[in-house]
Amino acid sequence: MFVHQRQGSLEVICGPMFSGKSEELIRRIKRAIIAKQKVQVFKPALDDRYDVSAVASHSQRKHEAIAVKDTTELLRHLDPDTQVVALDEAQFLDESLIPIIEDLANRGVRVIAGGLDQDSNGEPFGIMPILLAKADYVTKLQAICMVCGALASRTQRMVHTGGQVLVGAAEAYEARCRHCHEVPH
Ligand code: ADP
Repeated sequence: MFVHQRQGSLEVICGPMFSGKSEELIRRIKRAIIAKQKVQVFKPALDDRYDVSAVASHSQRKHEAIAVKDTTELLRHLDPDTQVVALDEAQFLDESLIPIIEDLANRGVRVIAGGLDQDSNGEPFGIMPILLAKADYVTKLQAICMVCGALASRTQRMVHTGGQVLVGAAEAYEARCRHCHEVPH
């Protein structure tokens, strides 16, 4: 059957930490490059886990990225002929990005946003609920629960200081299933 497909969409890749969001984002970026598309990759400047100018997975896979502190800076770096815009750690980007993403997708750009759908309390994280509602395609990934080995949809915070944002990797967080996840009272 012939299906007419027009260019321009929003894809969201979500899930807890260690679920492979960055790996999946990098995989899609690499395939778009193989397809000779012009790709630009952005990440919020506050996430400097491994490399300030790369999307990096916990398995050390990485792809060059432009670290931006807000939407204005992202727009400054955005080239008019870009066909694919990839955003990592989208939960840390601000709400002013939403109309920009909508506009890009409406103008034929493929936007791929990866991010945590829940914070470590199991609550919706930043702009992710809005992105998920507006997405054309959603991929929800699972990690492995570090307590029982089941599929994990949540992130357990192992350090109980600071606010909603505590940028860190294995030492500060672990993946947990719904049943093993604990929210501090
Ligand atoms: P995310 O971007 O969702 O945090 P990454 O793509 O950075 O995930 O990392 C995924 C990789 O993390 C896996 O391929 C695996 O090598 C590693 N990993 C470490 N802990 C876990 C876990 N509990 N469950 C699944 N993968 C894990």
